[in-house]
Amino acid sequence: MRTMSSYVSVLDLFSVGIGPSSSHTVGPMRAGTTFARALDERGALDRVAAVKVVLCGSLGATGIGHGTPDAVVAGLRGLDPETCDPDDVPGSWERLGDGHEVRLLGRRVVTMATADVRLAPLTRLPGHPNGMRFTAFDAAGDVVAEQVYYSVGGGFVLTEQELEAAAANEEAQHAAELAGAPIDPATEPSDVPHPFANAAELLASCTLEGRSIAETAWENEVSLRPAAEVGAGLDRIWRTMSECVDAGLDRHGMLPGRLKVRRRARAQREKLEAAEAEGSSDLSIEWLQAYAMAVNEENADARRVVTAPTNGAAGIIPAVGRHFLRIHPDLSADEEATRQAMRTYLLTAGAIGALYKRNASISGAEAGCQGEVGSACSMAAGAICAVLGGTPAQVENAAEIAMEHNLGLTCDPVGGLVQVPCIERNAIAACTAVSAAKLALQGDGAHVVSLDTVIETMRQTGLDMSTKYKETSTGGLAVNVIEC
Ligand code: SF4
Repeated sequence: MRTMSSYVSVLDLFSVGIGPSSSHTVGPMRAGTTFARALDERGALDRVAAVKVVLCGSLGATGIGHGTPDAVVAGLRGLDPETCDPDDVPGSWERLGDGHEVRLLGRRVVTMATADVRLAPLTRLPGHPNGMRFTAFDAAGDVVAEQVYYSVGGGFVLTEQELEAAAANEEAQHAAELAGAPIDPATEPSDVPHPFANAAELLASCTLEGRSIAETAWENEVSLRPAAEVGAGLDRIWRTMSECVDAGLDRHGMLPGRLKVRRRARAQREKLEAAEAEGSSDLSIEWLQAYAMAVNEENADARRVVTAPTNGAAGIIPAVGRHFLRIHPDLSADEEATRQAMRTYLLTAGAIGALYKRNASISGAEAGCQGEVGSACSMAAGAICAVLGGTPAQVENAAEIAMEHNLGLTCDPVGGLVQVPCIERNAIAACTAVSAAKLALQGDGAHVVSLDTVIETMRQTGLDMSTKYKETSTGGLAVNVIEC
């Protein structure tokens, strides 16, 4: 199970999964598999005759539109979001009807009905808005096991015990910091050579030792895994992102759900190609928008995407990366140079994303869309600034500018579907990321508001935000757009 620890690995932050949501699809799917595996490890799987799941809070409110019940059933079957056939997941829940066979981990046969996965939008479990309770019963109806899981954003899942431990750890660190005490290694395991708790520490580490942010992140990553594995993981992430862009630029038709949203990226591509054939030259921003929309249309269609750092915001980092390659055609022709550039790009984005995950939130249910699209925009801004030659200070500035102008962004998906405003929002945020990097590159990195300040502001704004605007589809566009 992907869990939170003090160091957030770039290979965990970017994970290959399926759409439409990291917190509402990928996380619940992982929770289903984790629950079934835990039963198996205890030798209890073969006693299970029934499983019931309750999806609470935001998972209950927008679960249908996000495919959460399907994901839970697929997870119980043992499907992995990274490797499964995306076509295997949709319909998993509806097919259950009044009772249908489900093979837990592909082995133990139980009968489940649609009513066994219950939506409880008004029940908020104490740890997080995205809570779910799994209960397994034996043939006599006695409870074999029960576990609460929280999908805390970006596909990360914690048991309620793990979440409590993480919260206690954070409180201990906060108290130590307030008291001016050194961080206790027992509560802050530094399992990497260059640990950083915030952007100031990251910058200080880079400056002191003359490393870039990407080099710092690389050295941390290779202290945890063999270098070949890290390199291959980064290359696979970029390849999957890029393939997702291409797939979205190619596929056409209607997206699933009652909004009847038509895919637009392919038509955009065709128009842009025609305009270029007629001699139009600077269409880089239009292409950037098309790349982002392509990915988010794939995501809305429950296809293969990279969580970056969430699925709702999955288009921004791939789009900005492809934009960078497009404006550097010489680089695109050189496979090794491209590989190195995209590793730098992803490592920088990952280091910035880790700051948001650690010190605020990347969950729309917790922080609104500023936590999803805002974080992705900030990560992409810093990352493109780095590959364009920015210093660590300029990278930090770019990331700060990008988030500063996403503060307060609410989450209000119409119909509970990750389509409107999400798809266009990624296109706009991709443009913001490029603008923020350009602005930062014109300066020397010195600026008034630090990235840490803006991250803390985002966190506080998220806390103040009404739950109507936190992935519940009960406010904003979600209630003002008439669904036909
Ligand atoms: S509005 Fe933003 S946070 Fe909400 S589902 Fe869409 S992309 Fe995610």
